[in-house]
Amino acid sequence: VTSLGGPTAVGAASPSDERIESVLASVRARGGRVTTARRLLLSVLFRGDTHRTAEDLASEVQAIAPDVHLSTIYRNLDELEQLGVVVHAHLGHGPATYHLGSDTHGHLVCETCGSMTEAPADFFDALASNARAHHGFAIDHRHFAVLGQCQACQRVDGPPITGA
Ligand SMILES: [Zn+2]
Ligand SMILES: [Zn+2]
Ligand SMILES: [Zn+2]
Repeated sequence: VTSLGGPTAVGAASPSDERIESVLASVRARGGRVTTARRLLLSVLFRGDTHRTAEDLASEVQAIAPDVHLSTIYRNLDELEQLGVVVHAHLGHGPATYHLGSDTHGHLVCETCGSMTEAPADFFDALASNARAHHGFAIDHRHFAVLGQCQACQRVDGPPITGA
């Protein structure tokens, strides 16, 4: 449903609005305050791409509300992580990226070209059961990427030359 006319689509409830309201309800249930920054951060999280850093998310929020500070975004991301709404993942060097908590895939990252392949959660089942059986260890495949080399970068003639 597209809304025609009117300055904004106020009042037109979309699926992401419902998710935002349900998260805000759990924030309230835990005694948290529903702030403008928190609501904006949630709307940015629910509609954009996955794999965004806190700084990416902050600049999207700041495009709407320039006075929201990066530290506020970090604090809100921490709280949303405690609620299970988001999780962060380290895809290699550099800052963590954020996903919705409902998204359970893992990551295979090429150390040569930096390409990233999303791996379904069950991809890690054999590793998880070995770790549990032999070490009593519960792995969290969402937190860190598995690093290595993609198929293209393993070719005998070396990785594709990309200038430089
Ligand atoms: Zn991912
Ligand atoms: Zn590669
Ligand atoms: Zn971490």
